[in-house]
Formats: sequence, C-alpha cells, structure tokens
Amino acid sequence: MIGQLLPVLIILIILLLTLSYYLLRKSVPEPGSKKIYSDLSSGGRVMVSKRYGISGKPDMIMRKGKSIVPFEYKSTDADRPRSGHLLQMAAYFLILEENYPGMRIDHGILEYRRRKFRVDNSQDLKRKLLQTVQEMRMSNGSGQRNHNNPGKCFRCSFKDSCLQNLITAKR
Ligand code: SF4
Repeated sequence: MIGQLLPVLIILIILLLTLSYYLLRKSVPEPGSKKIYSDLSSGGRVMVSKRYGISGKPDMIMRKGKSIVPFEYKSTDADRPRSGHLLQMAAYFLILEENYPGMRIDHGILEYRRRKFRVDNSQDLKRKLLQTVQEMRMSNGSGQRNHNNPGKCFRCSFKDSCLQNLITAKR
C-alpha cells in the first residue's frame, strides 16, 4: 500500500516545493516595506486612472514610508525590459499617482523569470505612455491588433481606450 502511494507522495512534495519556490521568489526582501496590495494569490482589484482613462492590476504594491513601489512579474525571460511592459509599468505609475495622492512613486520593479529590472518613473516614459494612449484614441480602431488572445486584452491597461479590445468586442 505504502509502495503504491509513494510515487504520489513524491509528486505532491515536488509540486509543493515548486509552488513554495515560486511564491517565495516573489517576496520582497526590502526591510521596512509593507505589502499594501497583491494580485498574486487572490484577485486584486482593478485600479483606474479616471483622468487618463486607463486601468490595471499590478501584481503587487509595496509601501515604505511615503514611497510606493509597484511590482510586475512575468513568466517569460528577457535580457532587457520589453517596451510593452515598460508602458504597462508607466500606466501603473499614473494610476497609483491618482489613487495615492501625496505619495512618492519613483520607480517600479519588472521581474522576468531570471532577471529583474528597476523601471524609473521618468518624464520620458510618461510621455511615451500618453502618446500611445492618444494614438489609440485617434486611430479610432484602425490600428491592427496583433493577437487573438482575450486574456491579453483583459489584463491590458489600455483596454478602455482600445477599440480593438477583444473583451469589449465580445459584449
Ligand atoms: S486592449 Fe487588447 S488589442 Fe487593445 S492594446 Fe490592449 S492587448 Fe492590444
């Protein structure tokens, strides 16, 4: 009987170890920081910037004093931050500035499978984001979507501005 259960137990232990490694990898060893939001283990709420008409769900938000840091985890690898992910982080900056007035949002952390990057909340990145949002609105849906993945649109910060949004199109 034990012999029959052994392979199942070994698989369960491996699964548990893998899961705990995955969750621990996402913990933040920043002393004095406090997690104020997480979308990792339970559904976080969608955060919105009414002013700019964008929305998003960071994977995690940490606070230390007057400073707030959004975290975004990606299951893929990358040698440098991908442009779409930088815009996603820029969207989080705007959303957080509106939702946490008086707080400082200097940077965010973009973490791929093996590398993580600090993304500065720069004027240049903000300008690129606002230009992208503006182009989406101006294109009036004529821009070409390059995928058929509703899940991607569901998580996209620009879905409220994008007329090619697969979620809205299905309503
Ligand atoms: S809503 Fe969908 S189609 Fe529009 S920009 Fe986002 S991911 Fe692309």
